[in-house]
Amino acid sequence: MPGRTRHLPERKTMDLLERTYVREMVRGIRLIGGRWARNLISPRDTEHEILDRKGPSEVTTIDYPDERAPISSDYRGMHRLTFREDGRPRCVACFMCSTACPANCISIEAGEYEDDPIEKFPVLFEIDELKCIVCGFCVEACPKDAIRMDTRWSSRPTLDRGTAIWSKEQLIENSRPIGPTIPEGLDGSSRLESREHERLEMKRKERAPGSEEKLEERLGPDRRR
Ligand code: SF4
Ligand code: SF4
Repeated sequence: MPGRTRHLPERKTMDLLERTYVREMVRGIRLIGGRWARNLISPRDTEHEILDRKGPSEVTTIDYPDERAPISSDYRGMHRLTFREDGRPRCVACFMCSTACPANCISIEAGEYEDDPIEKFPVLFEIDELKCIVCGFCVEACPKDAIRMDTRWSSRPTLDRGTAIWSKEQLIENSRPIGPTIPEGLDGSSRLESREHERLEMKRKERAPGSEEKLEERLGPDRRR
């Protein structure tokens, strides 16, 4: 039985330009050069939220540290201890947070108020931020809303392990920009968020000389971001 003959397509021979890749290189350079020129000439959208930027320029990098990428509202940042109107910590040294902590990085020493035989307070309250795994269990466990992680900033890098252990005083200080009480319908994170928003807005609008001083005057001495 005669076999069936199958004809393969004839292989096209490459011309000189294809063999040297010159044409493809020119096409690549033209494409990249075009994008580069467009991004260079076109004004960048000044929308401070980079995800909302639109326009011909496709540059999406941010002018760090003057600009910050948006942070999720439930971002777990640096711890803070909330305090009462009279400046005392809300913490009653119940050890719930340190018991819940899987990294065993919270140390508490309880003391008693002289004028109150029942309520306790933390004589010592320390968190080792190098051991912390940022799980948020301590915040969930606290019955007094005394510890929060809504500062929107992370523990600072350090060359000294000792400075990564945050004391009670430092943790309370982290709450100062927010104030002793949390206003109704507004939690600490959104207040910090609006503060950050205000800072970025001012940066964007006031790039004139002296704008830094105005910003300092408006936001107060605390420049923490
Ligand atoms: S976030 Fe988690 S690991 Fe860090 S202190 Fe709280 S409970 Fe411990
Ligand atoms: S921070 Fe909250 S959970 Fe931890 S000891 Fe104080 S009151 Fe208890």
